[in-house]
Amino acid sequence: MADNHCLFCKIISGEVPADLVHQDERCITIRDINAQAPTHVLVIPREHMESLDEASGRDEALLGHLLRVGARIANDEGHGDSGYRTVINTGAGAGQSVPHLHVHLLAGRPMNWPPG
Ligand code: AMP
Ligand code: ZN
Repeated sequence: MADNHCLFCKIISGEVPADLVHQDERCITIRDINAQAPTHVLVIPREHMESLDEASGRDEALLGHLLRVGARIANDEGHGDSGYRTVINTGAGAGQSVPHLHVHLLAGRPMNWPPG
């Protein structure tokens, strides 16, 4: 269920504007407002879920869908050969700042490992 105070729920409902890249019945994809790479988009499930830690067995297909949407967008934006990174930050200690599950897709520059 949508959370009235959640930034990404507000973007999904249209209350807060965003640069939309893709949408379907299960998720939306927007450009990150503070891009960390030439391509930096967020794949966001329409259903409010605070983090990956809240996902259950019934969300397995949704989680797979979010990753596949990220892969499709990476290819659409020309990064299929050079490579791309998908990241889910879970919890404040891991850098999660918006408590609505989302997958980051980053591409278009060399990536270091391990991430900071
Ligand atoms: P995380 O820190 O993993 O929770 O990721 C949240 C991301 O949301 C950050 O990369 C922010 O730059 C991004 N962000 C915050 N507000 C907005 C917004 N209004 N539109 C697009 N991206 C946003
Ligand atoms: Zn939300």
